[in-house]
Amino acid sequence: MSNCAIVGINWGDEGKGRMVDLLTQDYDIVIRYQGGGNAGHTVENEHGKFALHLLPSGIFRPGVMNILGNGVAVDLENLWDEMTTVMDQGISLTPDNFRISDRASLLLPWHRELDGLEEARLKDKKYGSTKQGIAPFYSDKYQKKTILAGELFYPEVMKERLEGLLEWKNLTLTGVYGAEPYTMEKLMAWIEEFGAKLKPYICDTGKYLRQAQSDGKKILFEAQLGALRDLDFGIYPYTTSSNAIAAYAPVGSGLTSAKLDKVVGVVKAYSTCVGEGPFVCEMFGPEAEKLREVGHEYGAKTGRPRRVGPLDIVATRYGVQIQGATDIALTKLDVLSYLEQIPVCTHYELNGEITDDFVFPAAQNSAKPVIEYVPGWGVDISGVRKWEDLPENARSYVEMVEKAIGCHITYVSVGPERDAYIKR
Ligand code: GDP
Repeated sequence: MSNCAIVGINWGDEGKGRMVDLLTQDYDIVIRYQGGGNAGHTVENEHGKFALHLLPSGIFRPGVMNILGNGVAVDLENLWDEMTTVMDQGISLTPDNFRISDRASLLLPWHRELDGLEEARLKDKKYGSTKQGIAPFYSDKYQKKTILAGELFYPEVMKERLEGLLEWKNLTLTGVYGAEPYTMEKLMAWIEEFGAKLKPYICDTGKYLRQAQSDGKKILFEAQLGALRDLDFGIYPYTTSSNAIAAYAPVGSGLTSAKLDKVVGVVKAYSTCVGEGPFVCEMFGPEAEKLREVGHEYGAKTGRPRRVGPLDIVATRYGVQIQGATDIALTKLDVLSYLEQIPVCTHYELNGEITDDFVFPAAQNSAKPVIEYVPGWGVDISGVRKWEDLPENARSYVEMVEKAIGCHITYVSVGPERDAYIKR
């Protein structure tokens, strides 16, 4: 298998970073193809524990090339901060193992500021943004009103374009929000400071990838967030502002002719959701608090407590279909070991009718979860490495999920460490 995408099936935070870190051993190149620094992938390996936001999760493997594709929102300042943190922890990042597409658009300081201003204006109607500037960035990208990383190599062209953008952006900042205008000096100082640090990594990664493809290199595409946050197929408007689905990988990576041989969909053994928007299977009260505590469900970027619920079969089956998943990695099964009875959301009830459909976003607030309980296994499974060594009830839970969502569960993860998994 030469090309593989690792994607989220649910609302994000399924444990994709952990699976990319594990599976990179079989690949030559890892590419992030969408999103920005607004979410986090947590990776634990022999080098330590890392919260990655923009860097691809393959940076820990010697010999693996990591790429930020053209579909990614590149915030030079945040990226440089993250790179220095990782380098301080002993990981080498040079143009030999990390490159940025010259066609990636730059997320500029005003995108972050506008994100915060708009969320403040919306007050209790806010989207729950992480205020990293992602929504204003993608709006500007599609309006052709930001600059490309490669324009750093054409300073005259870039400066002229920035002057035009500054004039336009200040109209919004001052007129709509009553904020301070940007000055060219401030903007150029930022670009020059961080541009100088990152320029060595910026190149024509599309050309590199086309060559790599013809050389038979194995390529892994790493997604951020999950199917239910996809701009087109998720819980709009509580989605992210890019396409998180595997189908976007060829476009956002810069390898437009790529065929995906394998799509590994990552599913958590229960549900979590950060931020606003419908979350049909949400649990409340002590039951929810206990699950949040045992699963350490607090945002990697924001530290916000995640909303939690049982595994949602309806949402997960939809996610599998939208992603075109060929294999599933079921993560955090070990977290459920404390439960005597495990709740599962098997269907939705909408207007008195039972449905298996992940209903239209606007209808989801009226949908209720149908919850069934299956027996737990009551012992710690975090040390188990073989399928036949799992307690029977744990195996039954996995088999039940597999049947219900219609996709083979190839990996069962029972701990955050690299080797804490079972391959079936
Ligand atoms: P991502 O954005 O999809 O990579 O997910 P996050 O990093 O936000 O969340 C996954 C969290 O769960 C991280 O802290 C991982 O270290 C942890 N994790 C991943 N797989 C497992 C597992 O099987 N068991 C346990 N206990 N923790 C896991």
